[in-house]
Amino acid sequence: MRVVVVGAGYAGTIAANRLAKKLDDAQIIVVNPRAEFVERVRLHQQIAGSGSATTPLADMLCEGIDVHVGSVDKIGDGEVSLDDGTSLGFDHLIVAVGSTVTPLPGAVAVGTFEGAQLARARLLDLPADAVVTVIGGGPTGIETATEIAEARPDLQIRIVAATLAATLSPGAQRRVRADLEQMNIQVVEDVVREIRTAGTSFGGAVVLQSGVEVPSDLVLWAIVASVPELAARSGLQVDTHGRAVVDEHLRSVTDPRIFVVGDCAAVPGARFACATATPQGAHAAKTLIRMTKGRSIKGFSMGYAGQALSLGRRKGLLQACRRDDTPRRIFISGRIGAMSKESINRYAKYGSRTANYAWLPGPR
Ligand SMILES: Cc1cc2nc3c(=O)[nH]c(=O)nc-3n(C[C@H](O)[C@H](O)[C@H](O)COP(=O)(O)OP(=O)(O)OC[C@H]3O[C@@H](n4cnc5c(N)ncnc54)[C@H](O)[C@@H]3O)c2cc1C
Repeated sequence: MRVVVVGAGYAGTIAANRLAKKLDDAQIIVVNPRAEFVERVRLHQQIAGSGSATTPLADMLCEGIDVHVGSVDKIGDGEVSLDDGTSLGFDHLIVAVGSTVTPLPGAVAVGTFEGAQLARARLLDLPADAVVTVIGGGPTGIETATEIAEARPDLQIRIVAATLAATLSPGAQRRVRADLEQMNIQVVEDVVREIRTAGTSFGGAVVLQSGVEVPSDLVLWAIVASVPELAARSGLQVDTHGRAVVDEHLRSVTDPRIFVVGDCAAVPGARFACATATPQGAHAAKTLIRMTKGRSIKGFSMGYAGQALSLGRRKGLLQACRRDDTPRRIFISGRIGAMSKESINRYAKYGSRTANYAWLPGPR
């Protein structure tokens, strides 16, 4: 049996490792555009220069797994075609291509490895007092703005967003606002209409819905809201966001040989998160292993416990959540918040590398 895993992020890596550990006779092939595992949860550190987000894939994958560096262009009937013109047959496929970022022209994408590299290079070129505008008030935007503010206190940092920290409890939102103020990060609550680039490729004026123009030397787009078009392009049933529609076992409703996991899968109630992707990858592998051995299979079930964000290296916030991902009143901030976030990042990577990962069952 041959299993092809498309995408070596959190979901794809844990799936490949679990399969390799349990299926001695199967050939496991991982296809990924680079020979590195990218900890996307550290991309803001990559940008600010306070940490690296990459690890050689060879250090993340079990022995015996074949790696094909490249991208899958299309999924066909029992075969994938790759961007180098080759193709790979499969008995089973695990699609774990994550999410992507579609910035407005004039902005640099924060949520992808290539975007982070570009943003890092631009940041290094900025003189003191230059203005960096981060667009997006969710965890990615807040983490990016605070990481840069801590690494480059000589810059002027601003967040532009329709809402700020909307997934947190009111108390936690107040805490985040107070920390942003302490770090001299200005918050502008408005919607971006366009970015008027003034001859520079990634700076210019950010034009808001209200008509206000915000001059910026660098504009960073920290809204991660889209998924690669691979599933849609390959004729798999997708939802309005392009995420592949799956059954309770995380199999594509179009082709049961294909599992879809992580950000690119349309699982009800699932948020874009490694906290979501890692359990889904693990579960898909477990299901395939049990099917191969003729055992019964169970539907996927997962509940959330919390949401963590860093506010630079020294501060952070851990928001406790109910299993349906709604915030509780309880949160931890400050140094302990930072340490909690760091532990969560490390556990996610450990889980993908060792295929050893535990999660809560879903809400009753
Ligand atoms: C700055 C930042 C901070 C974050 N912080 C947190 C956090 O604190 N907690 C949390 O839970 N989540 C966080 N996230 C979200 C989290 O990183 C993602 O939800 C998670 O990475 C999704 O995992 P995945 O396995 O689905 O996809 P990914 O990790 O994105 O991996 C997908 C892989 O597929 C590859 N790929 C894409 N297309 C193809 C193709 N056609 N062929 C082959 N390979 C392909 C990609 O290159 C990539 O290697 C953060 C994200 C960002 C950007």
